[in-house]
Amino acid sequence: MLIELEREIPKAVTDSLLGRLAFHPGITVWPLSLHGRKFLVVSGDESLVPPLVPGVDRGIVAVHHTAASGYFLVARESSIAPAQVAIGDTEIGQGRGLWCAAGPCALESVDDTVQTGLRLRVGGANALRVSLFKTRSSPYYFQGKGRAALADLAYIREATGLPVVTEVTDPRDVAAVAEVASCLHVDARNMSNHALLGELGIAGQPVLLMRGPCASIAEWLRAAEYIVTRGNTRIVLCARGVVGLDESAAYAPDVCAIQVIRKHTDLPVVYDPSHSTGHSAAVAPAALAACAFGADGLLIESCLHADRMYRPGDAAHMYPPGKLGALLAACATVSELGMRLTANDRADAAA
Ligand code: MN
Repeated sequence: MLIELEREIPKAVTDSLLGRLAFHPGITVWPLSLHGRKFLVVSGDESLVPPLVPGVDRGIVAVHHTAASGYFLVARESSIAPAQVAIGDTEIGQGRGLWCAAGPCALESVDDTVQTGLRLRVGGANALRVSLFKTRSSPYYFQGKGRAALADLAYIREATGLPVVTEVTDPRDVAAVAEVASCLHVDARNMSNHALLGELGIAGQPVLLMRGPCASIAEWLRAAEYIVTRGNTRIVLCARGVVGLDESAAYAPDVCAIQVIRKHTDLPVVYDPSHSTGHSAAVAPAALAACAFGADGLLIESCLHADRMYRPGDAAHMYPPGKLGALLAACATVSELGMRLTANDRADAAA
């Protein structure tokens, strides 16, 4: 539940409301300010909350119930979550053209990553994706270089001139990584890591939030809500495939999720054609499909020297940096075409 307060509410009135709401040990309350609007976030059983009536109880504008959906702030109706989010100097979202972050999953060779970043930049990438921490499916696989390579990440950012999108897996690393990163990436396997999401709410950087491979659209929105209830609205959602019935691709590409989640939120939605398919030959078709479904951007695994990468690892779904420019040009055409063909449908969905 969210209690929306008057913008100019005196501190004494807020304190008195906090006191009234926190009377029960099963209820946790904290204040939240977002874009000039003020809220009290109430975590706990709504039936334990004393009745509060806007206009009768001083300082209260509205009571937003969240028991049914589990989210409110990320929903379009709240007018809180932004339709555009900046990563570096580039805004992602409605009316901003097709955004692209590309690069290798994990930082292995610094030189290869810099050369890759420079090549991707020529191809039209807006940001470089590369991480020091990875959520791998086995403890025997390369886990990333960790904090020791934060200086390397800063060097790569300067050398390529590209903002860096990088993963965090542990809440204890968020503050240190946020000093170097331009965007903090939550991998699919961490979408439900609520301690991590809470920390990202105060990290001061935009967040790229991947959909979990088994998560529903509502669970994905609730994960985003965790971040917003701690104060950060700068979230880009990223679809990346869901668990399917066979193993012909890494996952079942969930491009339709882009269209579905748009009905609920204004937040930008991008697509990862690399991990949703698992092999490089499928990256281009999946990227084009995502653009037809209205993706605001793409997250593409790419490295100049896939042959030198650690194995087992990311080489199988690596897209050649030299082909990025042609792919993005084709994707932009499809995006435009898709937008023209579905303009009426989208107006209906938003109404
Ligand atoms: Mn990968």
